[in-house]
Amino acid sequence: MQIITEPSQMQAIAEKLRLNRQCIGVVMTMGALHEGHLSLVKLAQQTAGTLILTIFVNPTQFGLNEDLHKYPRPFDKDVALAKAAGVDYLFAPEADAIYTKHYQTTVECSEVTKVFEGEKRPGHFKGVATIVTKLFNITKPHIAVFGEKDAQQLAVIRRVVEDLNLDIKIIGAPIVREQNGLAVSSRNIYLSTEERDAATILYNSIGHAEKRLAEHDHNLAAIAEEITLMINATTGCRSDYTGFVDETTFEPVKTAETGKEYRLLLAMYSGTIRLIDNAKIIA
Ligand code: AMP
Repeated sequence: MQIITEPSQMQAIAEKLRLNRQCIGVVMTMGALHEGHLSLVKLAQQTAGTLILTIFVNPTQFGLNEDLHKYPRPFDKDVALAKAAGVDYLFAPEADAIYTKHYQTTVECSEVTKVFEGEKRPGHFKGVATIVTKLFNITKPHIAVFGEKDAQQLAVIRRVVEDLNLDIKIIGAPIVREQNGLAVSSRNIYLSTEERDAATILYNSIGHAEKRLAEHDHNLAAIAEEITLMINATTGCRSDYTGFVDETTFEPVKTAETGKEYRLLLAMYSGTIRLIDNAKIIA
């Protein structure tokens, strides 16, 4: 596995791979690699002959009061995990190599970003759309795998790719969960044992929504309200948002139609740690 830090060197390698008719797959991460990230690598390797993994804690997608500076950066461990997973190139640039002195161009996706995560974290998706586009231009992939764990992010990336005519196949990968249902996340290490146990309410909320829809209750707004109450009634937990969106347009939906697919989006705090989760729900 080759470790690259310079964008121009990564571009030159990617260009050469393309000339040699290699199918390039990319998986983008902020590091602190875990089973979720590695499942994306595995999925990408099913299609791509060459796998590029990017590790970049992107400053522009963090809000002022968020955890940019204390985000975990266990680089040596990440290198070992990436090597063991059969990654061909690890692209891990410094921030000033990506955002050069006179940098002033951004990518913004207007509608999908207005609700839920976008509403709670102003500027977040502008940072995401910009870095993902930049990393596409640096790694020149044919395919890219992103996790459904960040469902709204995946929706934004699909829009950017379609709207800007990027010739890249986007593949969504299922959420990898711990045994207790908690979605695996780099931030889970910050949870105390009590907070981790309490956080299982997120996964239980998905079960509750599935049960309510199986009972033919199509009032999604009421189900979201029930879930909010359940989360807020759990020790140390506070709901940040709960809602349903149309699976394709990502527009908020209050009433379900039989047979249609929706996505339940959840964000909450367990103690001071913010966690997100989601699930596809069929009415
Ligand atoms: P991050 O390092 O948190 O920015 O995540 C990098 C990629 O891994 C994103 O596409 C995430 O959606 C994905 N990812 C993170 N956690 C999981 C998980 N538990 N299951 C599947 N994919 C995940």
